[in-house]
Amino acid sequence: MDYLSLAETFEKIEATRKRLEMTDMLAELFSQTSINEIEIVIRLTQGKLAPDFEGIEIGIAETLARKAIYEATRVDEKKILEWWIKDGDLGSVAFQAVSMKKQTSLFTEKLNIAIVFDSLLQISKASGSGSQDLKMKLLAKLFHDSTPTEARYIARTLNGKMRLGLADMTIIDALAVTYATKEERDKVVWAYNTCSDLARVGKLLAEKGINGLDEIELEVGVPLKAMLCERLPSIPEIIEKLDGKCAFEYKYDGLRIQAHINKSGIELFTRQLENVTSQFPDIVEMLAPAFKGQECVIEGECVPVDINTGEMLPFQTVSRRRGRKHELDSAVEEFPVNLFLFDCLYLDGQDFTQTPYTNRRKMLESCITETDRVKLADVLITDDFEKAEEYFQNVIGKGGEGIIAKSLAEDSYYRAGSRGWNWIKFKRDYKTEMADTVDLVIVGAFSGKGKRAGGYGALLMATYNADEGHFETITKLGSGFDDEMLAALPEMLEPHKINKPNKLVNSKMQADYWFEPSIVLEVRGAEITLSPIHTCAMNLVKENYGLAIRFPRYMGIIRQDKGPEDATTTEEMLALYEIQSNRGGE
Ligand code: ATP
Repeated sequence: MDYLSLAETFEKIEATRKRLEMTDMLAELFSQTSINEIEIVIRLTQGKLAPDFEGIEIGIAETLARKAIYEATRVDEKKILEWWIKDGDLGSVAFQAVSMKKQTSLFTEKLNIAIVFDSLLQISKASGSGSQDLKMKLLAKLFHDSTPTEARYIARTLNGKMRLGLADMTIIDALAVTYATKEERDKVVWAYNTCSDLARVGKLLAEKGINGLDEIELEVGVPLKAMLCERLPSIPEIIEKLDGKCAFEYKYDGLRIQAHINKSGIELFTRQLENVTSQFPDIVEMLAPAFKGQECVIEGECVPVDINTGEMLPFQTVSRRRGRKHELDSAVEEFPVNLFLFDCLYLDGQDFTQTPYTNRRKMLESCITETDRVKLADVLITDDFEKAEEYFQNVIGKGGEGIIAKSLAEDSYYRAGSRGWNWIKFKRDYKTEMADTVDLVIVGAFSGKGKRAGGYGALLMATYNADEGHFETITKLGSGFDDEMLAALPEMLEPHKINKPNKLVNSKMQADYWFEPSIVLEVRGAEITLSPIHTCAMNLVKENYGLAIRFPRYMGIIRQDKGPEDATTTEEMLALYEIQSNRGGE
């Protein structure tokens, strides 16, 4: 396939914000794609070279990319820099430069998707001496051979920001439309949540149809998408929802870790499917002697502990270790962690995801010997409301933030990647506050005044509307920031700056700055109110009103383990509003 055809489809997708239209355009693209090319088409559409868990990044510094654009076009470097400063979009810089291309060499090779993909792969693999030159040569050649539209998307692929506004779910919908029936969509979703690789799912579908997905199975070394919880406002409601009896587990507040163990060793993944094995050598070290089997996939929460008292520390402490490549030894010592395991998805050749909770717990108990540092999640199985309430109070007394109730039903399977009623979280009831913190995406900002002059004064925050694929504003966040965070914000937000609202952001507010939805912050507010200026759940509770958070406060936590689409959804916000309304004036 010509890369131009793909780039032109991207252009059309970029021009719409309607999810259904995007799905149709993608489905048309897939139907014109040969079996041999479907994997590459999906990867390039995602702006990726490999599934997330493989951690392959193109790794091109923006300065090198600009240099390559210059080499290929000979457009004044100052002009290129000017465009970059003004727009912050490498794609539009490349588009403009290639449109004005001065140097036309005799040999221009028409780009096809294989050439583009292979060149990008070579660039990502180049290392050691001479690698900068090689990257430069390959990139300049790509820009030299491209049309302006092709250059736009090649450049955007370099920093992984395609700006198409495509969620994985839209690609899944398009795959289902192309290769399956409506009823079979769930199987496509299941396949993706199990192998975490859309291109692989697409290839199997194109090659063998829906039955091809039967080949997908849980594999040690390949992370699954995490199962998520619902919320309910009271313990009696939870027990009723879970058929009168359930398992209440201690809810640990740390970093969710999926551990994959086999003969070749231990690998650790976050819920964003990032391989963090090298950041947690201590977990690897403590898991090895605790595990009694041959191979497994188990899940747990890694919680920072005070080495002196053994007490669990706030979650933020563990986030200080994330991303540290240097001084890892001292970080391991300074911020030690314990691991509390709560699920077993696979053990010694058997996939247990499609078995009930009790069986998975039994498997977990059978393969783990508890140590000082590796423990099983504390649990109470009961049908007695008072015992459950006492257990909850106990957890709170120990400094815990709540409990997770787990269904014991025959079909209480591990549902990878989905939020369902098999797990229900219940946290401390903050009488005068919102029943839970929420994780909101930064979509815009307002200039600071007074002490904050010259920086950002407040951030415009949004929820994710998973049905529409849009981000909806819910509050202006200005408090809870310490000086350190205030100083860090401009640099942190700089790479995400754009000159107009992202097309997927629904905002009635005019912010001073706009950002690609990327960074997720944990926020607590005094209450959820109705507001005519915020777009979250617009018209759903009341005509011309959306939901807003009153007196929002940043909780000091950047949710590095969440992408924008993992932020609190509009649907969850509505549920929280309902919880608050039912609690009425307590
Ligand atoms: P969500 O996971 O619902 O998107 P969140 O990341 O803010 O939101 P919480 O509201 O803190 O998560 O609650 C769910 C998380 O609690 C799980 O994703 C998991 O990381 C953690 N957790 C702690 N203890 C347990 C447990 N015993 N069983 C399952 N999950 C647990």
